Amino acid sequence: MKIALDVDGVLADVIKSWLSYSNTIRPKISKHEITDWEFWKKFQINRFDFYEELSSCWKNWYSIPPTEENLSTVTKNLSNLGQVDIVTAREKSTDSFVKNWLAHHNISYDNYVSVVDGPMKANLDYDIFIDDSPLNATKFLNHNKTVILYSQPWNEHMYDDRIHRITNLSEVEDKIH
Ligand SMILES: [Mg+2]
Repeated sequence: MKIALDVDGVLADVIKSWLSYSNTIRPKISKHEITDWEFWKKFQINRFDFYEELSSCWKNWYSIPPTEENLSTVTKNLSNLGQVDIVTAREKSTDSFVKNWLAHHNISYDNYVSVVDGPMKANLDYDIFIDDSPLNATKFLNHNKTVILYSQPWNEHMYDDRIHRITNLSEVEDKIH
């Protein structure tokens, strides 16, 4: 069994770092208000500014908080279920920062796979995708992949009875057995 594990929004709570920055230069937003993947439209934030600022947050990787405690133990347990690869969509320049972050948090994984955009992940040879993006989730379903959706405010609206929703990574094991 091959498992693709996402980073942003699943392991790393990078939106918190971005909000800390954005809230110093724009009207304040809190995480629970980010109820859409393309939330920047609602807040009239330029898409390119958003992604550039997100990449800047990764330069400061040390300050990005994990989504939950004990990621080290949880990912170690995941690796007993099969091959677990980090599969992340991002700007190439941030790969080294992400790898530093994963090492710093003692995350267990087999391979590090970086793609240019999220939905491209669906074309890769994995059985299970653990992700927080509603766009990616739709594409995974279209490719008949097993989708484990990590609950975040921007995917709460997504409902499909094929989706396995989790609020904690320790729930993965129950979902795939
Ligand atoms: Mg993500």
